Amino acid sequence: MKYFRLSQDAVKALADTYSTPLLVLSLEQIELNYKLLAENMPDVKIYYAIKANPDERIIRKLDTLGGYFDVASDGEMRMLNQLGIDSDRMVYANPVKTNSGLKVAHDVGVHKFTFDSESEIEKMATATPGGTVLLRIRVDNPHALVDLNKKFGVHPDEALELLTKAKAAGLDVAGLCFHVGSQSTSSEAYIAALKSCRKLFDAAKGLGMQLHILDIGGGFPIPTLTEEPDVAQMAAAIYKVIRQYFPDTEIWAEPGRYICGTAVNLITQVIGTKVRNNQQWYFLDDGLYGTFSGVIFDHWDFELETFKTGKTIPATFAGPSCDSLDIMFRDKHTVPMEIGDLILVPNCGAYTSASATVFNGFAKTQIVVWEEVYKAIQAKLELATAG
Ligand SMILES: *Cc1c(COP(=O)(O)O)cnc(C)c1O
Repeated sequence: MKYFRLSQDAVKALADTYSTPLLVLSLEQIELNYKLLAENMPDVKIYYAIKANPDERIIRKLDTLGGYFDVASDGEMRMLNQLGIDSDRMVYANPVKTNSGLKVAHDVGVHKFTFDSESEIEKMATATPGGTVLLRIRVDNPHALVDLNKKFGVHPDEALELLTKAKAAGLDVAGLCFHVGSQSTSSEAYIAALKSCRKLFDAAKGLGMQLHILDIGGGFPIPTLTEEPDVAQMAAAIYKVIRQYFPDTEIWAEPGRYICGTAVNLITQVIGTKVRNNQQWYFLDDGLYGTFSGVIFDHWDFELETFKTGKTIPATFAGPSCDSLDIMFRDKHTVPMEIGDLILVPNCGAYTSASATVFNGFAKTQIVVWEEVYKAIQAKLELATAG
């Protein structure tokens, strides 16, 4: 699969026009990603987990494609509400909700929730009597990059008791959910979770509870430096098992990184060079407190395309702030560079700008939409070749 990737000429023209650092978002890539998942998992409702990249233009695009949204806070619900997204299209999928989150859910009419503890039942029943709830089950997945099951999900042995208590509290006990962990490169964990959920659906039926929704969460992967997962094949394999075990159940998925990860490229430039302790250092105009926040929050290793060929050296890459924590990579192999050299960072859309800060007075990196600026950039490139 070919993902959105700017050419060297486009990188130069964009840097000339907008200066750096600059994030370039392709809404066409967002659409392709959404459709690939939708085609391989027909009739699965796709709830985009907006925490991965809450850019308004991504949300509008997914809204026009008929998407749904996974939200986790008062701010996310308010934002979608202001964009005109119907509250029926949102699930408040944070197992431990804040008071203001519950209040906003009530005010804007969000009535679908997930939970994984007894203490949450009364909170939901009080804020939204009769609300629709899914119980989050813990699943173990050694293949995930970020293991969300350390923080969330009940052991299947405790599930029936919590479902029963939620029902007694007057909630609409509708089903189960799980999250196999972020960047899961195999369908195995999903399939194991599906089997475990089937057993719980049957056991719940025995107790008089007709579960009818299953939410398989997020975790679908994006390409890494060493691996390009085949998401179409993975989704199709998972879907086959879904329909085998849950022929009539309403199925939801909550992809985050997969939808937005490949749709954004970063253009950054070398603003300083030095040699320290016998290693070459490069300072870039975007750093760990900015777009590269994914190095910390998402344990991500980014590809740096320098458009140079030749012998590589191990180098340290640091960001522009005055904090010594602001180092993205050590011993990263690169062709030697100079001040002013531009670097393209592809697959930069998930857990990057979403977790960027304005620490030290560096503004968040501007985001332009490729399909909106393309024509002007193209004209510039043609002028350059003509001249
Ligand atoms: C973060 C999150 C997601 C999205 O995870 P990805 O790995 O980005 O796909 C989905 N569901 C829940 C509940 C989450 O917290």
